[in-house]
Amino acid sequence: MNVQENLRRVRAKIAQAAGRAGRSAREVKLVAVTKGVSVEKIEAALAAGVWILGENRVQEMLAKQPLLPAGIEWHFIGHLQTNKVKYVLDRVSLIHSLDSWRLAQAISRLAGKEGREVPVLVQVNVAGEKTKYGLPPGEVMEFLGAVSTLPGLKIRGLMTVAPAVDDPEEVRPVFRELRLLYERARALFPAAGIDYLSMGMTNDYLVAVEEGANLIRLGTAIFGARDH
Ligand SMILES: *Cc1c(COP(=O)(O)O)cnc(C)c1O
Repeated sequence: MNVQENLRRVRAKIAQAAGRAGRSAREVKLVAVTKGVSVEKIEAALAAGVWILGENRVQEMLAKQPLLPAGIEWHFIGHLQTNKVKYVLDRVSLIHSLDSWRLAQAISRLAGKEGREVPVLVQVNVAGEKTKYGLPPGEVMEFLGAVSTLPGLKIRGLMTVAPAVDDPEEVRPVFRELRLLYERARALFPAAGIDYLSMGMTNDYLVAVEEGANLIRLGTAIFGARDH
């Protein structure tokens, strides 16, 4: 199965899931997750109309970027260590994974110095998994309030990685909870421009779209199984 055929099927399924929820598929942006994926496969995805790429490791992203055309929208989707912030700030257009006050301060210090505003999503650990990064749902509003006072960051929304389950229906409540937090954040911070709800991966993206995701992050569904 090739990348273009995978993308065709994924887009058709997204359109169906959006339709089931009374939404337009145009509301749903696709982030192609390229960790562990060869440049050839990435180029096939670009040729098939993908323009947003997501990476979760700084080194891998830095190695890949010079090999690919300009004009790609790069998103950073993994845990970001504060000492790596300096490498990503001017190379990504969205960080999905703001997961601590320390990281917010580090981004603010550097971006503020350069007079920039870095778009970020706050990562929420909805299910409270010990192995995952992200804020507990109960701390999100206070965190958003605190971050909105920092120069150099622009909060664009919320992101979560749902627990790995066999039946994606099991994580519907996780997506529903993030959607509610998102709506509350939009109501509490109307001037912030919060408009991204990043949720859904290969195993669960159709449920995520049904629950309101407008940014979905797909690796395996597009590129096939990773070697690592
Ligand atoms: C790897 C990764 C994805 C994509 O995972 P697939 O199951 O291959 O679609 C999405 N989001 C994050 C944060 C990831 O690390």
